[in-house]
Amino acid sequence: MIRIGLVGVGKIAHDQHIPAIAGDPRFELVAAASRSKPDLGGIPVFHDIETMLAEGPELDAVALCTPPQARRETALAALRAGKHVFLEKPPGATVSEVAELAAVAREHGVVLFTSWHSRFAAGVPQAKAWLASRQVRKLAIEWREDVRRWHPGQTWIWQAGGMGVFDPAINALSILTEIMPTEVFVTDARLQVPENVQSPIAGSVAMTTLGGAEITADLDFLQTGPQTWDITAWADDGVLKLSLGGAELTVDGVAVEVGKNREYPGLYDRFAGLVARGESEVDVRPLTLVADAFLVGVRESVEAFIE
Ligand code: NAP
Repeated sequence: MIRIGLVGVGKIAHDQHIPAIAGDPRFELVAAASRSKPDLGGIPVFHDIETMLAEGPELDAVALCTPPQARRETALAALRAGKHVFLEKPPGATVSEVAELAAVAREHGVVLFTSWHSRFAAGVPQAKAWLASRQVRKLAIEWREDVRRWHPGQTWIWQAGGMGVFDPAINALSILTEIMPTEVFVTDARLQVPENVQSPIAGSVAMTTLGGAEITADLDFLQTGPQTWDITAWADDGVLKLSLGGAELTVDGVAVEVGKNREYPGLYDRFAGLVARGESEVDVRPLTLVADAFLVGVRESVEAFIE
């Protein structure tokens, strides 16, 4: 039994982590830390991780569900206290801080898990298997959603380090880096940044591989109506399409049976295995692609964003 504490009890902790932990007999949620002190039905909630570690029940692991800007300090506190750490995506506000966390985890003999929930979407393993033996000529990511619907009141997303439209788009990049048989590199980007915030609201990223695949990502945070989370890949002998964030898969327009979407149960299953084996899993490739898009991206100032 892994006694786990949650830090940052906001939307994703309520929607996914708490039910996934409750549904996995290898975990017991024994404490939480959140400044707003939500009522978790008898589970003790502390103001911050330091108080939870000092005054709370004994813990084996923590899951950090804070925004990326608040991740490093809490992760360091947990690792130094000898706790296994499950990081929500993105694993940090910077690429270098994740390497630092990995080093501290090694030093303290605990597990660090950089989770990427979209990689556990139902269609992803079969998409990866289909692409493994093929040469991808072209791949298009279309990731367009309504920020007002999915991220109400989340001011952190617009601040420096919040990533703006790359907060959802990094999910597409996590699938991309999982299913592509070769490494992916950023060549160009366009970032549209509202004049009153720090992070992009829309944009595009051009990427490639050593084999010369033409990879594009078309990103928008203002799409109302039907939402688009699609990845389409063209190989010499067919076209693969992942839709609904990876939950559905077609090959040449024909639906492939992929089973039920179990992203967060899948993540906790992976974390339990890593803890049992004493192995860390640290993958910063999706975050590196975002960092590169920010490095080379041409910025355009656009109309202010008012929620
Ligand atoms: P959220 O609803 O804003 O919740 C974040 C929680 O973190 C807040 O409830 C807040 O609780 C706590 N927190 C601690 N330090 C903070 C700080 N400096 N600024 C703001 N909040 C702070 O955000 P969320 O949607 O749960 O997202 C959290 C993480 O999960 C993000 O990295 C996001 O990318 C990831 N994620 C979100 C979704 C989604 O659909 N929303 C899906 C997958 C992954 P207190 O104020 O009570 O401390």
